[in-house]
Amino acid sequence: MGAGVLSEEGQLRLKGASAFVSRTGGMGGPASLMLTMAGVGRVILAHGGDLISPDLNRQVLGSERGLETPRATQFADYLRSMNRFVTVEAIDHEPNDAEAMELAARSDIVLSCAPTFEERLRLNRVAAAARIPFIDAAQWGMMGTLMVLRAGSTACLQCVYPTQPPFEELFPVVGAISSAVGSLAALEAIKVLSGCGRVAWGQLLTLDGFQAQTAFVPLRRDPQCRCCSTMFNDVEFNDMEECV
Ligand SMILES: [Zn+2]
Repeated sequence: MGAGVLSEEGQLRLKGASAFVSRTGGMGGPASLMLTMAGVGRVILAHGGDLISPDLNRQVLGSERGLETPRATQFADYLRSMNRFVTVEAIDHEPNDAEAMELAARSDIVLSCAPTFEERLRLNRVAAAARIPFIDAAQWGMMGTLMVLRAGSTACLQCVYPTQPPFEELFPVVGAISSAVGSLAALEAIKVLSGCGRVAWGQLLTLDGFQAQTAFVPLRRDPQCRCCSTMFNDVEFNDMEECV
């Protein structure tokens, strides 16, 4: 098998894997779609509330036909229609600490596609506690960011944001960038779960659509981190084997 492909063995690993995606908006929608189409065995979606008209500039799983009805359940139905071999679970609200912990404990990876720092840091914490990889996807306007983390081995999200930055309730969203970042989040998850390809462990990818620039920035662990420094002793980081 040549480099640059998902091997048959990798595909089988995907089939046996579970991914927990929190928020199915502009990034979580395409991320969960790509995970489903790739054949990840179980995809768990969490999102509260109905699909509303202002959302439609960035949704790939919904349409005007689904307005004013719960988002997670209709999106899950759509995903099931895309790949009947994938089990799709819909959680119709944002999980609290205990629920998120339970979901992470039965998943192999957590993808945060959430807008608030409170939720992003909660998901980081539960992934760290469950000892599983964590992917954080975020966007503002035409700028997208992506972090691929495994607490104890790389920085965790709390290392990057030791204090919670202020959150804007309403911020600009361009569907093309959220869709790109969501797809890249799925791609990193597919590499992690399949063991194929080089994962961007411990790095921040910035995708500046406005300036047409991308960059990878290595992230450093904070030895005083309130999350990971209390959970982990120094452990050796073993990258997953690449399929070649
Ligand atoms: Zn940390």
